[in-house]
Amino acid sequence: MTTPVSLGLLWGAATHQGARRRLNEDSFLARGSVFFVADGMGGHEAGEVASAAAVEALAPLGRSDVVGVDEVRCRVRAAHDAVRAIDTAPGRGAGTTLSGVALTDQGGEPYWLVVNVGDSRTYRVADGALEQVSVDHSEVQELVDAGRITAEQALTHPRRHVVTRALGAPDDPEPDFWFLPVHAGDRMLVCSDGLTAELPDRRVAELLMVEPDPQTAAERLVGEALAAGGRDNITVIVVDATGLTDALERTAPRDGRPDHDDDEDTVPRRSPWKGALT
Ligand code: MN
Repeated sequence: MTTPVSLGLLWGAATHQGARRRLNEDSFLARGSVFFVADGMGGHEAGEVASAAAVEALAPLGRSDVVGVDEVRCRVRAAHDAVRAIDTAPGRGAGTTLSGVALTDQGGEPYWLVVNVGDSRTYRVADGALEQVSVDHSEVQELVDAGRITAEQALTHPRRHVVTRALGAPDDPEPDFWFLPVHAGDRMLVCSDGLTAELPDRRVAELLMVEPDPQTAAERLVGEALAAGGRDNITVIVVDATGLTDALERTAPRDGRPDHDDDEDTVPRRSPWKGALT
């Protein structure tokens, strides 16, 4: 698939096990035009294996400059199956979150395809503002949606690490997808909850707006999350859209279109994974 416009992507990525964890159970893929972060869970290294398996299943998407939506759906499904197939101790399922963005083509125009399962996140910086594109699949997000707690309270809620969807879960992962037209100067951020649990969005926004180099931005974000406590593994990918033609800027619509509807461990809600570590 080709795009009729000249589009370049510049990216940077950084990951760290954090200040308290023995293992880094996050994995990431940054290749071609696909950028994903996976935050594994399951304990006893299963989380590490799960996030790595998911990323490996998605890796073939990195071979082309632009990927098809069906191809992405298919690979996410393959990632889920790969995590399901991991051999774990009885009563302990391996699982992983998955969040990220791929460059796709919609009617000849480049679009970001944002994908999410779980509580890793994808954001966009556009027009001088940081906007969270993905919506967490977590118990606290459900409480926020129901108006029972505020977003502020969610940050310290005792069940803040309980995810309601994950790759490798007993039921289908039901990933969410969003399409956003690509504009020159767009900057995408993909990260695990080890970043967002330590740094407020306003600080993340500030840093992304003052640091032009994506690799330096990714490293500085990880560094600040570590300095703020580093209670979990931290992974950050920063992707910049560059080299767009004027024609694209004139024609692409601005709005996004949704496709459809005391430790820092992320834990799945369903019983086979009770007490799983991330
Ligand atoms: Mn995490």
